[in-house]
Amino acid sequence: MPHILIVEDEAAIADTLIFALQSEGFTTTWLSLAEQALAEQQRNPADLLILDVGLPDISGFEACKRLRRFSEVPVIFLTARSEEIDRVVGLEIGADDYVVKPFSPREVAARVKAILKRVAPREVPAASPVSGPFQLDSERVQIHYHHQLLSLTRHEFRLLQSLLTQPERVFSREQLLDSLGVAADAGYERSIDSHIKSLRAKLRQVSAAAEPIQTHRGLGYSYSPRHA
Ligand code: CA
Repeated sequence: MPHILIVEDEAAIADTLIFALQSEGFTTTWLSLAEQALAEQQRNPADLLILDVGLPDISGFEACKRLRRFSEVPVIFLTARSEEIDRVVGLEIGADDYVVKPFSPREVAARVKAILKRVAPREVPAASPVSGPFQLDSERVQIHYHHQLLSLTRHEFRLLQSLLTQPERVFSREQLLDSLGVAADAGYERSIDSHIKSLRAKLRQVSAAAEPIQTHRGLGYSYSPRHA
């Protein structure tokens, strides 16, 4: 069952939320300080956070910004003042939803369910590993670069896939041929260079200044997130 972390300093509000969520089958943890919640989310990540805006240590907004440095977990804000809503829904904060106090705990539980349903596909681990600006979807045989879908040949896809899965590793031409399922052969090794050349041209169309594929003279190629 999904685990919900409730960050709220008023015990009475936390109690009603815990009751409503547990009635729906969720497990819950309740903490009253933002700093505790950030530490807990790093140690033992919950599937969703319910975060009060007015907390005793740092504000829920600040907590959410810090959270976003290491986690994409969905966040629902609890806010006491309707004038805060503009900030909550603003993209700068990175929340998924908000509820204004006083609220119905059942309503909150319904929103938790709706959000978890919406984000579920994102959490399938092998589907879309992200490395820097690249998003690799091996099942769909697609790679996005800076959110743009690359139009790649089969060989280009395999090459880039191999490079992306092990950032900074230097692959020899022979190893890259292997990844294409082509037998290593002196004549074929140079064909890697032409695939890399066309691949780079396609990447440059998206980001002209970047050089994510690095050449290592006499050795081969690597993917460098620092240059992506
Ligand atoms: Ca509060």
